[in-house]
Amino acid sequence: MGIVVQKYGGSSLADADAIKRVARRIVDIKKAGHDVVVAVSAMGDTTDDLLDLANGVSPLPPAREMDMLLTAGERISMALVAMAISDLGFTARSFTGSQAGVITDSVHGKAKIIDVTPGRITQAIGEGHIVIVAGFQGVSADTKEITTLGRGGTDTTAVALAAALEADVCEIYTDVDGVFTADPRIVPSARKLDTVSYEEMLELAACGAKILHLRCVEYGRRYGIPIHVRSSFSQLEGTRVSNDARPDAQPDLQPTGTTQGDTMEQPIIAGVAHDRSEAKITVVGVPDKVGEAARIFEALADAQINLDMIVQNVSAAATSLTDISFTLPRTDGQSAMSALARIQAEVGYDKLLYDDKIGKVSLIGAGMRSHPGITSKFFGALASAGVNIGMISTSEIRISVIVDEASVDDAVRATHTAFDLDADEVEAVVYGGSGR
Ligand code: ADP
Ligand code: ASP
Ligand code: MG
Repeated sequence: MGIVVQKYGGSSLADADAIKRVARRIVDIKKAGHDVVVAVSAMGDTTDDLLDLANGVSPLPPAREMDMLLTAGERISMALVAMAISDLGFTARSFTGSQAGVITDSVHGKAKIIDVTPGRITQAIGEGHIVIVAGFQGVSADTKEITTLGRGGTDTTAVALAAALEADVCEIYTDVDGVFTADPRIVPSARKLDTVSYEEMLELAACGAKILHLRCVEYGRRYGIPIHVRSSFSQLEGTRVSNDARPDAQPDLQPTGTTQGDTMEQPIIAGVAHDRSEAKITVVGVPDKVGEAARIFEALADAQINLDMIVQNVSAAATSLTDISFTLPRTDGQSAMSALARIQAEVGYDKLLYDDKIGKVSLIGAGMRSHPGITSKFFGALASAGVNIGMISTSEIRISVIVDEASVDDAVRATHTAFDLDADEVEAVVYGGSGR
């Protein structure tokens, strides 16, 4: 039988008992006759604890050393899972990302996988072993340094392994039963989606639904790997992410007789996502001349900073000046401010403002393309909940707004209810994890 690739998140590996439970699940698949390759995350909140530790030692730790530190978390898990498997009478071989052949570019902290050369994995499988791979890490082809893929990156390790090994499916085991119409920690009445398209899942992940790492969904779509998101705490079927359209979210919106895969009429909304990891920078008083915006964004690109929303307004300070605001990951806030400070004299702007008390709320659904009135309903729901909108951006299948960080939960709940996404009875179960 084929190769099964699985991923277990930190919440599924929180302590020794949890690790033994996961080992039993892995062994069950092996007993059923499959070859098994497992990507593991660091135990519980280990990565956050290591980050806190690093920040306690140094306010701006070197990126290379940060990656050396953080990859230790996954190494602990891989060895412990392999030990627990061996205790059940099966042999497992654990490999670091580098040993497993996960080759990345050289950007510390957010490296991209550029190739997977799984020679040692296939050899170990051939010898009858279960293979455990430390997630979220690789080695740079150029610098030979150890890299990490960014927070949540073990999902991407798993899908990249599934693609390289030509696995039939990649199972992502986590602490909820699948992908829901909103984060069940904020909306207990959120509904589980049985299926979701790569396209919608990409938007959900990009907008902060941390149930899946964005690049794992990109990878899955590029290589046609179906992703099955499910709980390691239950035996329930989870959510299948694939090319199929989503027939399940609001069955009443389906024309009768449609089947899974029909794209004739899709339920409008897949879900509401939120993100508290962004900050906003405003460059105040930029001379309104050709080339100024290009210079600003070139400086940010040189500092390897990914921007999200960008807005340019007539400056509140004076005419012939503009204010440029943009959002970016909070973790890049300080380097962006430094990069911009360096070009102040050259650009001639007035000052910089930094705000990290913001949140982003996004409404996502492929059916939006063909349904007018979604924006007005969304903004109406926010207004009724007393939530002020700071910035707006849209794609074909998404509307996002920036709001005060303190209003995020209210905004998500109000939007979820306004679009009739609340389940009638069953409350979504959150089995573990601190939500950190
Ligand atoms: P793991 O440790 O398994 O990687 P994560 O904490 O990274 O788990 O991701 C799972 C969490 O994602 C859930 O506990 C939930 O709080 C959060 N989440 C956010 N949005 C969603 C969503 N739309 N559906 C399900 N879970 C979501
Ligand atoms: N341990 C890493 C993190 O916490 C990677 C992962 O869990 O996927 O972000
Ligand atoms: Mg995760």
